[in-house]
Amino acid sequence: MSFTTLGLSAPILRAIKEEGYIKPTPIQKQAIPIILSKKDVLAGAQTGTGKTAGFTLPLLELLGEHAQSKGKHPVRALILTPTRELASQVYENVRSYSKYTPYKSTVVFGGVGINPQIGNFRRGVDIVVATPGRLLDHIGRRTVNLSKVEFLILDEADRMLDMGFIHDIKKILAILPKKRQNLLFSATFSNDIKKLSDSLLNAPKLIEVAKRNTASELVEQLVHPVDKAKKRALLSNLIKKDNWKQVLVFTRTKHGANKLSEQLSKDGINSAAIHGNKSQGARTKALANFKSGAVRVLVATDIAARGIDIDQLPYVVNFELPNISEDYIHRIGRTGRAGTQGKAISLVCVDELQYLKDIEKLTKRKIPQETIEGFEPDPTIKPEPPKKKSNSRNRPRNRKVNAKPASQNRSTNSRARRR
Ligand code: AMP
Repeated sequence: MSFTTLGLSAPILRAIKEEGYIKPTPIQKQAIPIILSKKDVLAGAQTGTGKTAGFTLPLLELLGEHAQSKGKHPVRALILTPTRELASQVYENVRSYSKYTPYKSTVVFGGVGINPQIGNFRRGVDIVVATPGRLLDHIGRRTVNLSKVEFLILDEADRMLDMGFIHDIKKILAILPKKRQNLLFSATFSNDIKKLSDSLLNAPKLIEVAKRNTASELVEQLVHPVDKAKKRALLSNLIKKDNWKQVLVFTRTKHGANKLSEQLSKDGINSAAIHGNKSQGARTKALANFKSGAVRVLVATDIAARGIDIDQLPYVVNFELPNISEDYIHRIGRTGRAGTQGKAISLVCVDELQYLKDIEKLTKRKIPQETIEGFEPDPTIKPEPPKKKSNSRNRPRNRKVNAKPASQNRSTNSRARRR
């Protein structure tokens, strides 16, 4: 099947061709005709499946159905994403796919000056990609008019809920016109997502490409058992021995990300850390250097790495396993993207065996283990009791957010956003 049979018009097909896309991915095959038929959609798709084009291409097509009078660009499509990085990436995609259409787009997120964003709104845009917090700032200042919105897309909705954005989302929904088409994309279907979709979507069509809560088939997964104190040496060893070029490494904490990045640099491996305490400029620079190959290893926390889009990222390393099993799926979703094989390697010490069990239970598969010579775990080391154990259905962060009255939620949310 090629894109030409999907009902997209010439300017859109031309842009896709220039991107080098030959045939639609499974999510695109399913989503494009349904969205073109003007139905609401609930889509289960991880990043890496081509979901951004899956919603953007039909959106551009539908925007052309009733053209606005010349020169006017009221906001007609709103795309909400949980993080700044994802917002920038979605925006870059929207810009590429729309380059032969008359539609203007912009992106708004926090951590950068608000005035240029206000200027863009004033000049007129058809499509807005935004994180919820900064969009609410604009709504509060009356610098954006959303009264003509016809399409709402929630991207990575599960992560938005995890980050405590539900009240922000509700405030935004409250001011949108009631008659609109809604598309909700989520990597996982928790009960909270079902609740949100019940309240937001109107007789939605369900699309699911990767099986619910299963790790991508394209990702080869491996565990190296190793003592905590030897993890860094093992990582350096693997990178050098196998000459890994583009490695995304996950740590649990921002401090851990900084420390590991410094140590790798001392080992002669070019590396950078990316997390919520870094300025937007520093994050963008680190990502650009990683993409260009100037930086070989990017060390990231879960939230900062969310939505990082690097074509054919070959290696993801879990320097520490996440204590929330769903995060494992999100992490390894960075590799094996759009049809290429990737490898996800987890360095697991004795303290993390319970996390490993939880992950294997969620993904319903045993991850093969391989001990590396010289890094065999010391059997006399006993596990330290986990400091804080939580799972996705019982997360203290969520409970705190949900337990608060709406009026107090902005501070919790902004804390979550800064992570
Ligand atoms: P996404 O899941 O939207 O983050 O997309 C993941 C990656 O797949 C991006 O780098 C896209 O440029 C790429 N991609 C999207 N659609 C296609 C396609 N039909 N063929 C090849 N690559 C694609």
